[in-house]
Amino acid sequence: MTSDCDELGRRLTDLRVGESDCAAIEKHLAECPSCGDLHRDFEDLARLCRESDRPRMPLAVRRRIEEALK
Ligand SMILES: [Zn+2]
Repeated sequence: MTSDCDELGRRLTDLRVGESDCAAIEKHLAECPSCGDLHRDFEDLARLCRESDRPRMPLAVRRRIEEALK
């Protein structure tokens, strides 16, 4: 867990994921091994980012991320 993880978590726990967040998610996922447990959720988010102009965080994913960042 690094400060980058915390920062990403803060952005992800917003209800809506913006375009810059999509880029941050994909970048962080590529660089951070300690986010491995959340890898699948992040992949879901990255897919949502690609499929939607205004992606929204699925509630279940958001809860998982919040739990993981406690
Ligand atoms: Zn991380």
